Amino acid sequence: MATIKPFLAPAIILEALNEGRRWAKERQANATWWATKAHHLRPMPPGPEVYQEAGRRLRELLRSYVDEWISTGIEADGAECTADRDLSQAPQAALVVGRYTDENPPIVAISDGGPTALGVLFGSRRLEHLEGGHPIRDAEAEAARLFTLLQASDWRHTVAKCKVCDGYYQISNPERRYQYGTQHPKCARKASALRITRERRKWADDELLAAAAKFVRAYHGKPPRWQQTHPIAVWLAKQLTAFLASRLLQTRDEVKRNFVTLHWREIEARVQAGERKVPAS
Ligand SMILES: [Zn+2]
Repeated sequence: MATIKPFLAPAIILEALNEGRRWAKERQANATWWATKAHHLRPMPPGPEVYQEAGRRLRELLRSYVDEWISTGIEADGAECTADRDLSQAPQAALVVGRYTDENPPIVAISDGGPTALGVLFGSRRLEHLEGGHPIRDAEAEAARLFTLLQASDWRHTVAKCKVCDGYYQISNPERRYQYGTQHPKCARKASALRITRERRKWADDELLAAAAKFVRAYHGKPPRWQQTHPIAVWLAKQLTAFLASRLLQTRDEVKRNFVTLHWREIEARVQAGERKVPAS
């Protein structure tokens, strides 16, 4: 049994998924060549905007097939193992492959040389006469061809989609389980830095609200005459700003009155609950 060597490099599929321009440019250059050198053999090619549209169509279709297939390797909790993907669980994508292989079965032919006398040719654009049709229709055929060749490749599970930026890239270990889904290393670092900042802010705000509850209890302990000359929101904002200065972890420089009014319900609830987590001041 001869092995099928698909005419496809990872860089080709990644470019088609991320940009889709290379194929369209090639098609346009080819059509222009025919138009200038042998215009009596081919009709005049359409304008450049049609090729741009064709490139977008290729990218859009290829993404829809690849995304459906990729989703079969993602668990309900968002964890992903690309080696778990299952084409039979992606009906639309599987249909595209089935149709393509029906229309373009592998050809067994005597190879040009080398140790194997018989070779299997499959997915060669040249054999399929995929040149000279309408660019949009050709883009649809090209998307089916690229996706089928991807499925025939032994590196298909290294093609991944970044959870953060939606870009497509290659991973080195398809057996690895990505707890938060596949992400560019750069995007993953950015996302985790953001997560840390958010958590820090939440933690710092929580500490601030606990302090606010403590100050409100102290405020209520002051005589009514003093309370009359000290409006609570203004006084509280001042106390909290002083409290902030004493903290190591600071996510803001000062506490303004609107922080107090915005969080008033929460502060009141904490006062009523008799907040036990009184921070050291
Ligand atoms: Zn990314």
